[in-house]
Amino acid sequence: MSIQLQKPKYVYYGGKISLWEEAVFHISHEAVIRGLNVFEGLKGYWQPDGSFGIVALRRHYDRMLRSAKIMHMPFDMSYEAFEKAHHELVSLLYTPDRNMWVRATLYGEEGHWGENSTTNLVLTAYHTPMGRSEPVDTGVSTWKRAPDIALPCRVKTSTNYQVARFIKIEGRGRGYSEMILLNCENRVAEGNGSCVLIVRDGKVITPPSWEGTLESITVNIVEELCFSMCIPFERRPVERTELLIADEIAFAGTLMEVTPVRSLDGQPILQSPIFDAIADRYLKAVTGIDPHPAVSLSRIPAKPSV
Ligand code: PMP
Repeated sequence: MSIQLQKPKYVYYGGKISLWEEAVFHISHEAVIRGLNVFEGLKGYWQPDGSFGIVALRRHYDRMLRSAKIMHMPFDMSYEAFEKAHHELVSLLYTPDRNMWVRATLYGEEGHWGENSTTNLVLTAYHTPMGRSEPVDTGVSTWKRAPDIALPCRVKTSTNYQVARFIKIEGRGRGYSEMILLNCENRVAEGNGSCVLIVRDGKVITPPSWEGTLESITVNIVEELCFSMCIPFERRPVERTELLIADEIAFAGTLMEVTPVRSLDGQPILQSPIFDAIADRYLKAVTGIDPHPAVSLSRIPAKPSV
């Protein structure tokens, strides 16, 4: 699943709801000059009782705090204020036939080379289709994930996504919307906007974060789902050739949810029974059809009918 370009009417900017056109930055800001920001991508789903549930909001807030800390960016908003801002924006923009993806971005404003930094939290929210995403064709990119000591992928900052841009461009030329990135040791790191999972002999395996992945909230949820589905789950390094012999491959992330891979570099993967089952269970949990303790929802209550 990817986001089609949209221009919503409202954004959250500078502590309040603003019109899209009015949310602008000065050219001198660190966000513009050095691309300084940390961000989160969150997903919200309509629930059976008419409320709207944003998945794992607290975990996203906590990860944003960690990213901001590593980047020496001040972020002193409380969780309650962060949640209120999400609820305000989403309830202005949601429509009954679409779920939503929210991008929460903490931009750097003042702060030459990290001195006396100031930041501004901006939320933008976009409509996404309902239902499970289609399996995808993918390939291994020629680009590599930078090591922790060069550009820490544990930080969710746009700077890290320059490589995602390279691999999206490379993938487009090869007919793939998603690509797999290796780390500098040529083992599997992650996708351009998601983590990589494989199945071997009935076990779900994914590289740990020190192999070059974001500390994924979805993978943590999948781990808990696997536990209750009695599917073995392991975090360990994954070599490139293991992709070729894997029984199944899938991407996992907030936006992609759990999306099975249909082919790798032209080699078909005919069936994905384990990832199909996990993808269904994930969707049932986030849409409230079959709740699961691994999926916490920050709920915007249903609007009273008039
Ligand atoms: N890796 C990258 C590079 C990502 O952009 C994402 C999406 N945020 C993920 C992994 C998956 O993280 P999460 O499950 O927290 O969305």
